Order: sequence, then C-alpha cells, then structure tokens
Amino acid sequence: MLHSFRALALGAGLLTAGLHAQPFDDATLNHSDRLRDHALQSDIAWQVVESLTTEVGPRLAGTEGDARAVAWAKARFEAMGFDAVRLEPVTVPHWERGYADAQVTLPFPQPLVISALGNSVPTPEGGIEARIVRFDTLADLEAADPAQVKGKLAFIDHKMERFKDGRGYGPVVKARGRGAVAAAQKGAVGLLLRSVSTSSHRFAHTGVMRYVDGVAKIPAAAISPPDADQLTRMLARQDDIQVKLELASMDKGQTTSYNVIGEIRGRSQPEEIVVIGAHLDSWDEGTGALDDGAGVGIVTAAAQHILDLEQRPARTVRVVLYAAEEIGLIGAKAYRDHHQADLDNHYIAAEADFGAGPIYRLDSRVNEAARPAIEAMVAQMAPLGVTLGHNHSWGGPDVSVLPPLGVPVAGLNMDGTDYFDYHHTPDDTLDKIDPEAIRQSAAVYTLFAWLMANADSTLRPIPPTTN
Ligand SMILES: [Zn+2]
Repeated sequence: MLHSFRALALGAGLLTAGLHAQPFDDATLNHSDRLRDHALQSDIAWQVVESLTTEVGPRLAGTEGDARAVAWAKARFEAMGFDAVRLEPVTVPHWERGYADAQVTLPFPQPLVISALGNSVPTPEGGIEARIVRFDTLADLEAADPAQVKGKLAFIDHKMERFKDGRGYGPVVKARGRGAVAAAQKGAVGLLLRSVSTSSHRFAHTGVMRYVDGVAKIPAAAISPPDADQLTRMLARQDDIQVKLELASMDKGQTTSYNVIGEIRGRSQPEEIVVIGAHLDSWDEGTGALDDGAGVGIVTAAAQHILDLEQRPARTVRVVLYAAEEIGLIGAKAYRDHHQADLDNHYIAAEADFGAGPIYRLDSRVNEAARPAIEAMVAQMAPLGVTLGHNHSWGGPDVSVLPPLGVPVAGLNMDGTDYFDYHHTPDDTLDKIDPEAIRQSAAVYTLFAWLMANADSTLRPIPPTTN
C-alpha cells in the first residue's frame, strides 16, 4: 500500500513539474505517509467526541452546558501540548426552550410531537388555539391571500429530499429561518413547520429562526414528519382543524461565551495560518454528537497527530472551536472581526460540521494557478477514498465568512446521506457515530492541515464569491 501512495503523489507532482515547483518536498510527503498510517490506527477523534458528549452533553450557546464545554475544551487543549491555547470572548444571546406542547383539539383531539424553534417567543400563558392553514412551501405562504391566513396557525409542510451531499437542506431550511416572519406578515398567530428532516421517525427537528423589526413576533415550532402527515390527512377530511400550541421559551438576554483556540506554531512561517475548525456549541435536545461533537473530535485529532511528529509544520496550524454556530454563526463573525488585521495571513481554512464522515471529496477555493497543489494534496488522500472536487467551495458554515475577505478555503465533503435523519433532534447521540468513518475523516483532516501548512504554493487571490 505504502508504495502506491508515493507513486500517486509522485505522479501528481511530475505532471505539474513543468509548470511549477513541486508543491511538497520529499520530507513533507514522507511525513504525510506516516501521518496517514498513524491516523488510521488512532481512535482519538472518537475518544474526544465520547468525552464531550458524555461529560458535557448538550451545550446550547449561553447555557451552563456551554460554559462547561468551553472549560472542557480548554483543559483538553492544555493537556495536548499545543504551543498556545486561548479563549476569545464572544457575546451570545441566551435562549432557553422551556416547556413546549401542541395538540389537535378539534375535530380529532390528539397530541403532536413538536420542538420550539430556537429564538422563538413564547405563546401567551395558556397557549394559543387556532385553525391551521397548510402550505407546500414558504413561497406558497408568501404568495397567499392574507385573508386565508389571518388569525390562523400557518403550517408549512415542505418535505426535504435525501442526498449524499445534503443539498436537500437549503431549499427547505429557508422556511425555518423566515417562515414566522412571512406568516406574521399575512396575519398568522403562529407557525408550525414540518421538521427539516430526511427521516420518518417521530422526532421534531429544532433549529434557529429569526424575526425582523417591524413585524409581529409570533411563536414558531417544528412538528415531527409523521405529525405533519397526520395534519395533512386531517385537512383532506375537512378544513377546520384546530390546534393548540403552548411554548414557554425564554429570552435570557446576552452572555459571554468563547471561541477556543489551540495553536501549533509554524517552524519557518509562523505568521501564516492554516485554520481547521468545528463548532463547540450544540442544540439542547440531543448531546450534539454528529452536530458537531464529531467535528470537534476530527480537528482535535488532526492537531494531536501533527503534535506527535518530531517536527513542526512550516506554517502555524490553528484549531478553532467556534462558539454559538447554531444560533447564527456568532462565534465565526466574532473571530472574523477579532482577526481582521491578520486575515491576510490566513493561508487557508476548512471546517468539519457535517457529521462523522467518511470524507469522499475535497473542494477548494484557491487561485486557479494553485490547483496543482490541491491536486497533489488530494493524491495523498486518494488511498483514503478522497477525490478532487470543484474550485468554488464555501468552506463550511463558520468558515464561510472568510472568503468574502479573500481567505482561501477548502471543503472536505462528508457523506451526509443520513445526517439529516438525526440533525437537531434528541436522537443526535454518540451511538450514531461510526468509529471507522470518524477515523477516516480525522486522517483526511490530518493530511489537509499538514500538507497545507507545508505547501510551496500561493493560494491567493481567490476566485470571487458567487454562491
Ligand atoms: Zn453544526
């Protein structure tokens, strides 16, 4: 196996030798081979997510669990041998779910399985009871006659499609973010959203929603997929389906959380930074194993494998565990603002936030002239099953705020076929993580960080952000 790895890497190097210097020297490639073998033997990524989900559990931004997660990460990083460990403060909203309940009251009384959407206001004490009005999509609600919606609970029943790359999410999640505003603009008293889910289990999937100034703030909840089907069957029998919704969510103001940073200082170009990130916060319903304990495990393991080498990489490798991703990329924006002065020194950034893997494709957003370096890197990952993708990557949620400021990014695409079965539910727990998949993902991130921190290639200027 080892020989074929090198043959692939050398082949990729030779192909580009006429145009460019080799993107990687022999010592870098030798270490890369060793790191790949070492990472594939290691269970550190799984151990990290096991520790986080067991000892901390749910860690919604601003809560006591979030504070314990920060302390857990700081202690873990300090024990690993990083050259520097820092906490960077982030001001975060503190919202708590509280009690949530819904039932059909007329004509077929029965309970519904729901979850308040993050940031939702509570209902008035005692709840609200109203007729429901159903829409296939957010666009249908936006196009509706207000007379049809006024005084009712708007019910958006948009089904999500399953894809390996998760592209079914974008078209459906818009209704979670903007549905309550659209409903309120038509005079609705509340929003019931079919869960953004690829599963048929009876869990409701939470997630953040927003209000805008000048539009009434109405309560918003997700209902489980079978409950959405149930309401639709009832509506096929008669128009007048009455639902009672009760939410006791609380806005607890603002508090301070932290981006947790661990650094491996570069030996020859320490001012240049390769960022590998994940988010430390999670939703409160599960234990945030896939979202995003797995990412925390993957990038922490990658750093540990590089720290275990006798030699530091040329550039600095910075692990960033972002605060408050779930409630609006708040840690990511704080990082961007705090590091404004040195964003020009960010060589490349990537984030693991799509479960445990395995990783099947690497996309980039780098100067076209630097694509040979990306190709040579992917050649090193080919034995792990990774193929070369496109050059318009967004980098992942927290990292997506960087390309508009010129920072190159990569997308290490994980197989997300099942990801939205568990996403933001009580069922996002450790048992859903495949130890073999997370080992492969950690190995790929290890190679990414190591090779990018040693590449002899200029990645800027990047192609413009168009997506
Ligand atoms: Zn996430």
